[in-house]
Amino acid sequence: MENRPQPQKGILEIAPYVPGRSTAHGASRVIKLSANESPLGASPKAIEAVKAAAEKLDIYPEGSSRQLRETLGEVHSIDAERIIVGAGSDEVLHLLAQTYIGDGDEAVMSQYGFMVYPIVTRAAGGTPIIAAETDYRADVDALLAAVTDRTKIVFLANPNNPTGTYLDAGALDRLHAGLPSHVVLVIDSAYAEYVTAEDYGVGISLVERAENVVMVRTFSKMGLAAARVGWLYGPEHVVDAVNRIRGPFNVSVPGQVAATAAARDTVFTKALRDHNARWRDWLTDKLASNRLRVLPSQGNFILVLFPDTPGQTASDANAALLAQGLVVREMGGYGIDNGLRISIGTQDAMEAVAECLNAFMEDK
Ligand SMILES: *Cc1c(COP(=O)(O)O)cnc(C)c1O
Repeated sequence: MENRPQPQKGILEIAPYVPGRSTAHGASRVIKLSANESPLGASPKAIEAVKAAAEKLDIYPEGSSRQLRETLGEVHSIDAERIIVGAGSDEVLHLLAQTYIGDGDEAVMSQYGFMVYPIVTRAAGGTPIIAAETDYRADVDALLAAVTDRTKIVFLANPNNPTGTYLDAGALDRLHAGLPSHVVLVIDSAYAEYVTAEDYGVGISLVERAENVVMVRTFSKMGLAAARVGWLYGPEHVVDAVNRIRGPFNVSVPGQVAATAAARDTVFTKALRDHNARWRDWLTDKLASNRLRVLPSQGNFILVLFPDTPGQTASDANAALLAQGLVVREMGGYGIDNGLRISIGTQDAMEAVAECLNAFMEDK
């Protein structure tokens, strides 16, 4: 045993990430609402771009994803030189952790924050420090109280997955203002395209005002989950450091061209946002009752909280949904045993979920 290769300290403490289910045994159809994928597929322009790229699979990509960075720079009015593109935002989060966290360091994250943050922290040799939430929302005071001399990064998903709740721009400013200047604040705005709240700030203005704020984004939730493209926007010194460890050809050509076309296709992005807002509100209204609580969501999913009463629990409801081929996300891995996260899908999917869950609750 002791002679065989040993992983670095911390690696075997990582609880492996468990993706949402994608099958429902025995059901005649399967509707996947477990991974917050796009309810409208991919931008047709992105699909065309990938088809064209298939003719040139023998040539290495442009290593820095220049065309995509320049497009993002134009679309968001930001400096393309301060963007780094990764193979999904998961890679970007790993690169940030590898760059700033070492043995004995800490990263602060909120109680029901995205499950990848503890993984990247431990992978880099650090210790995740969990700050309690207040009623399923990140708590600025608790996050700040968790910061110590050893803290290198504070990770915040805004809006958060899996709760769907968010901190408004004022609260985000307060969080930043309370951090020591050596701590990197990573604002993971994975669901930015879906947010409709007017007091939301995506993080760009904070990045521009500060030397220690990084915004992370992804194309996965807006139709390109299979292409694996995410990115960050940060201060020049962070971009310089992270680029030193980034793989020289880390994003594939199909990924780069799909994301470039999707970033330009603002008509499609708006259609996604409009569809999502409509059905997110509709499903929230249909399900919320004196027995089911639906957390107000700014993402492309809702978190539904079920009673503890036997027969009415989240796991009973999940069985009822699965029997109809409706695959949603169980929340045990996040410590929310009474919750199910349901991605916003097509109109048919949303009607099927509402009908199934309302029949399930009426039966009891
Ligand atoms: C889905 C998700 C990501 C990861 O996205 P990829 O780009 O597919 O790696 C990052 N952060 C949050 C909060 C997410 O929900």
